[in-house]
Amino acid sequence: MSPPVLDWRHPRHWRAHARPCRYCGAPTRLRDSRSSPAHKTCAEEALACQAEEQAARWRPGTLP
Ligand SMILES: [Zn+2]
Repeated sequence: MSPPVLDWRHPRHWRAHARPCRYCGAPTRLRDSRSSPAHKTCAEEALACQAEEQAARWRPGTLP
């Protein structure tokens, strides 16, 4: 399963003022799907990470 893809060209991902990225702390005008400040690359990395973690958690045979 591939991680969810966000449409970063959509205006709702942009704000007038830069805020510190929730992942790396550097200023960004981008907002992620939850309206939190986040760079595109940082958010995509985090999403890929989450998808991997969930895939690992739900791998058949790993349930108690
Ligand atoms: Zn960042």
